[in-house]
Amino acid sequence: MARLKRFLRSEAKNAAAKLRAGFGIAIHKASDDEAPSMAFVEVLLAGMTFDAWVDTLPELMEPFLVGMAVDGGSATLEALGVFDDAVIAAMRTRAREWATQRAAEMVGRKVVGGVLVDNPNARWVITDATRDMVRDEVMRGLREGLSPAELANALEQSAAFSESRAIMVSRTEMATADVAGAMASYRSVPGVVGKRWLTAQDDRVSDECAICEDAGTVGINEAFPTGVDAPPNHPNCRCAVVPVFDDEVHDIAA
Ligand SMILES: [Zn+2]
Repeated sequence: MARLKRFLRSEAKNAAAKLRAGFGIAIHKASDDEAPSMAFVEVLLAGMTFDAWVDTLPELMEPFLVGMAVDGGSATLEALGVFDDAVIAAMRTRAREWATQRAAEMVGRKVVGGVLVDNPNARWVITDATRDMVRDEVMRGLREGLSPAELANALEQSAAFSESRAIMVSRTEMATADVAGAMASYRSVPGVVGKRWLTAQDDRVSDECAICEDAGTVGINEAFPTGVDAPPNHPNCRCAVVPVFDDEVHDIAA
């Protein structure tokens, strides 16, 4: 995804600049002969916030997520043989609502009444993951005795802002959006009351995904045992979710 790549590239330069600026403050608080301490790193990183991401990333990601979710929903409706305009419209609305929330969730927020507010339950927050990657990079640089200029340079080149990270994030979000689109279509089709989690059923299936499959049919608006509405449970999750119609079940608590 070209826009995400460009965004990370420009943020690499920002992070390096902030790191150079931060050294002036942090160096006062560390003694010369001491190995780089956590406190030093924390002072250094304190000046490196990702507040700007909150303003930029949701807007950048939302159209991409909407497109993927609607595609996933359309493909699902087609596979179910549903071509009713009202159902398609309902699916599109749900897919769009999901995309808005996921774009906010990526930066640790949620949308309430059109406004971004903090979301303590956000999953796979890209700003948190980036902060952790930057911290690791800075720790490693300090341990290796890099100068401030060398460290800033290393940070600018780090994996956190790389093209491969942009691709990895895009792929994960694409897979998530595809399944979210399927869920939007299930919720829009009359008669769907439940859902079932399907794993790849080989020895690489994670414990958390096996637990979801073992749960059998759950209500369409209930969470699976891991607290999620649908796969994925984790990056590289290969699971799928299928609808359960009212004439298939008699005993679910929907
Ligand atoms: Zn899985």
